[in-house]
Amino acid sequence: MNTFGPPQGVLVRGEGAYVWDADGTRYLDLLGGIAVNALGHAHPTLVSAVSAQLGTLGHVSNFFATPTQVTLAERLLEVAQAPSGSRVFFTNSGTEANEAAFKMIRRHGAARGTSRVLALEGAFHGRTMGALALTHKAAYREPFEPLPGGVEHVPFDDVAALEEAFAAGGVAGLVIEPVQGEAGVRTPAPGYLAAARELATRHDALLVLDEVQTGVGRCGAWLAHHDPAIGGGVVPDVVTLAKGLGGGIPVGAVIAYGEGPATLLQPGNHGTTFGGNPVAAAAALATLHVIERDDLLAHVSELGRTWRSDLAAAHPLVSEVRGHGLLIAVELAQPVAAAVQTAALAAGFIVNAPTPTSLRLAPPLILTTEQAATFTRALPAIIDSGVRAAAGGSGAA
Ligand SMILES: *Cc1c(COP(=O)(O)O)cnc(C)c1O
Repeated sequence: MNTFGPPQGVLVRGEGAYVWDADGTRYLDLLGGIAVNALGHAHPTLVSAVSAQLGTLGHVSNFFATPTQVTLAERLLEVAQAPSGSRVFFTNSGTEANEAAFKMIRRHGAARGTSRVLALEGAFHGRTMGALALTHKAAYREPFEPLPGGVEHVPFDDVAALEEAFAAGGVAGLVIEPVQGEAGVRTPAPGYLAAARELATRHDALLVLDEVQTGVGRCGAWLAHHDPAIGGGVVPDVVTLAKGLGGGIPVGAVIAYGEGPATLLQPGNHGTTFGGNPVAAAAALATLHVIERDDLLAHVSELGRTWRSDLAAAHPLVSEVRGHGLLIAVELAQPVAAAVQTAALAAGFIVNAPTPTSLRLAPPLILTTEQAATFTRALPAIIDSGVRAAAGGSGAA
């Protein structure tokens, strides 16, 4: 179905941070399958972990456990710094993780007679009906209304607006991306997450952090909210993960912090056939293992810091460079991002334009400093070419 419009090309092979198309042209993958390919393409550790698991036990029903699944749950609770009594539910995607979190909010509210759910303007939480209700963009929502009720969107990064929404009473849960990825890599001011935590606690509501895009090292910490500049010190009730977790194999997770949130979903309340599949769990364990073994969190923080400042100085049209770690937006002073994306592809770089004025970079966490620099050096000509194309000239790079 034509849900994504015409494809930009046909990719047949990948290795490290590079992919090749059917004509043999090589591209530096600075989008990483939209923040998914944490270890790049065809990483040997991921390939062998997945192959070994598939050759041992590829799938069982959730009437049984597997060692791989249990090990992954334990490892996730460690990296999430979750307290004792915490639990994990596995899904196949980000939207499914958020569906489960939405159900947890409903159960939490049902016990308290509350049903309002707060999300933020600009939020993206997925495309299935519950997650779509949490998503803000009208163009995504409106064709599918009526959506599950009770969700209200409050202005982004506005503590007073949040206070007012809570003061009206009846809030069962609050869902926040520590950094809004699809909205163009927007981070609320330091202190916003702490204020949200305080309000949620005071009003006995669940604080759900959607780290589907920001988690698993993407922003330079295991989870973005661990970064003091984003949400340092905040302990959420629920965190959702997916995208980078499996390094390219579909897997998502819902982490419930502490016994209260961990027991909201009781037998019969939720389920999944594929969620927790051992092959997906092996992929996630391998991804977490390589991130730790190769000290990628430090690499992502360091490379992100220097790259962002280099990008900011690359061209006069670059008005701002935002982000954390390797989740970066290059803001342009004119609405030419789509044309610049096309020019970048012609020059051998895969990026994307989540808004008319911004380019998003979410490359593999293994991207080298030198690979990043090749893009910085190419960016002036790419932007010039994109601007010419947007103006109707011949913009081919
Ligand atoms: C991508 C994304 C989702 C949806 O994940 P899917 O795997 O595409 O369903 C949800 N929340 C955030 C923040 C995302 O970036």
